[in-house]
Amino acid sequence: MPPIGVMGGTFDPIHTGHLRLAEDMACALDLDRVLFIPAGQPPHRGTPRTAVGHRLEMVRRAIAGNSRFAVDAREMQRTQPSYTVDTLAALRAERGERQPIWLLLGADAFLTLPSWHDWRRLFDLANIAVAARPGTHLTGPDAITEPLKGAASHRWVADKRQANGPAGSVLLRTALPLDISATAIRGILARHDSARYLLPDAVLDYIHEHQLYAHT
Ligand code: ATP
Ligand code: MG
Repeated sequence: MPPIGVMGGTFDPIHTGHLRLAEDMACALDLDRVLFIPAGQPPHRGTPRTAVGHRLEMVRRAIAGNSRFAVDAREMQRTQPSYTVDTLAALRAERGERQPIWLLLGADAFLTLPSWHDWRRLFDLANIAVAARPGTHLTGPDAITEPLKGAASHRWVADKRQANGPAGSVLLRTALPLDISATAIRGILARHDSARYLLPDAVLDYIHEHQLYAHT
């Protein structure tokens, strides 16, 4: 059964760092599909400054033209906080026990896992693919500390051939990290500098059309 990827985020706005992460993992892991799942009300941070409808539309525009990428709006439709563990449990229930699922994360997000709701269960529900990110030191399993290090039921693998199960593997990709963040892009736009080439033109056009991020 071909594996799928799950790319969560606030996407405020979506940018080239997100898209490269998803594309690199799709190739490395032979993902049949990557589901971009924008967070509704992220439990870890303040309410995103941009309305869910705008964030969803920016994701739609960013992934148009990539037939492996799709958007899944389920977290935005919830009124209560969206927990990744609930989303993965729902996908698991829909697709069955044998479906390999890869949760795609940047290294910064991976290192915060122990603060996520019911985080140990994430390893029972999915494999986790981590992309190196500038500013976060993560070179491999030796760089992680307790409680993440001690989390039962996961094993580090070097490539997709070692990870043929539906869940429980952790893989790190370190090729070509991109130092792009939504925070930096919001800052650039608030200063009325150019953010071109940090995110797709179609997203930037949408931002200008709706005057998003024009003020701090
Ligand atoms: P913000 O600056 O608002 O936190 P962000 O750029 O970190 O935005 P998020 O929506 O917070 O984007 O991130 C969603 C996911 O994408 C996280 O797993 C994060 O680690 C990952 N990610 C974002 N940008 C990059 C990048 N440049 N390289 C690798 N991973 C990234
Ligand atoms: Mg972030």
